[in-house]
Amino acid sequence: RMFNELQELKGNIRVYCRIRPFLPGQVAKQTAVEYIGENGEVAVVNPSKQGKDRRRNFKFNKVFGPDSTQAEVYSDTQPLIRSVLDGYSVCIFAYGQTGSGKTYTMTGPNGASEEDWGVNYRALNDLFKISQSRGGSFNYEIQVQMVEIYNEQVHDLLLIDGSQKNLGIKSTVQTNGLAVPDASMHPVTSTSDVLELMDIGLRNRAVGATSMNERSSRSHSVVSIHVRGKDLHSGAALHGNLHLVDLAGSERVDRSEATGDRLREAQHINRSLSALGDVIFALAQKNSHVPYRNSKLTQLLQSSLGGQAKTLMFVQLNPDVISYSETISTLKFAERVS
Ligand code: ADP
Ligand code: MG
Repeated sequence: RMFNELQELKGNIRVYCRIRPFLPGQVAKQTAVEYIGENGEVAVVNPSKQGKDRRRNFKFNKVFGPDSTQAEVYSDTQPLIRSVLDGYSVCIFAYGQTGSGKTYTMTGPNGASEEDWGVNYRALNDLFKISQSRGGSFNYEIQVQMVEIYNEQVHDLLLIDGSQKNLGIKSTVQTNGLAVPDASMHPVTSTSDVLELMDIGLRNRAVGATSMNERSSRSHSVVSIHVRGKDLHSGAALHGNLHLVDLAGSERVDRSEATGDRLREAQHINRSLSALGDVIFALAQKNSHVPYRNSKLTQLLQSSLGGQAKTLMFVQLNPDVISYSETISTLKFAERVS
């Protein structure tokens, strides 16, 4: 239902905006982002201007204000998750500068209780719950991979030994739907399976953080969920997949300050985020050429971007006036793809 109108308009791309609240201890309380809400609008206030140029409105399919709960955010995402069990490919991203709440939306806060669970946990949990409830007519297998893309290298995050081997990306036509066939695959059948896996993945992502400057904000993490279903009556097979992506921080790194590793990271991030923007833009425009080959990220996600696939992007905003210029550049990215 939710995608029908969009299917015609823009090839199944939805953009939701989420404004995170001010955090305890955040000094400036002046806000640059005003939640308007209901009709999907936010207003951004330019602190250095007066008069009619001071406010600018942006419109989304939906806006979640600072008081929105994880459950509210998920309830508008769930129909997409459900369609994975019908054999669709779905891709959900969180985009925004570091500190804007990407990980909070996708995973939840550190050591989250069930109430604070982000989209990843809720989606996986729902997938196997719904698959069990369809047990009389369908037989489902659900398997999970989790990788990070750092400096255009793909690493498995679900290896217990945290090994950092660079993995290749393959055409999914030859590999039974798997873009990274060499990343470990883990069957899930219960909430505790899900919790255990996400724990390993998050721990491996954090390991990098101690050796490399805040690694988790300089890499993309991708949870890939593969669903194989068999209709017990007709014998027909279906294959759905879901990619849940916590993108690297979109902030511009000052070229005059960044050198060496930091500059290289920044260039890789810029390039892959613009490649992602170009792909979604081409899809939204219904261009005949979609430039998937320009980054590891878009190669990995190719099967879940375009065609019959459904895409949802969370545009994350930090409300602080100090973030004004990053907020504007985040919103411009979103405006281009929506
Ligand atoms: P990012 O992944 O974009 O760098 P985080 O998700 O780590 O940002 O969020 C930065 C901080 O803000 C974290 O301490 C996180 O718990 C908190 N935070 C983010 N979004 C919310 C929210 N909606 N409600 C409460 N706290 C939030
Ligand atoms: Mg994060």
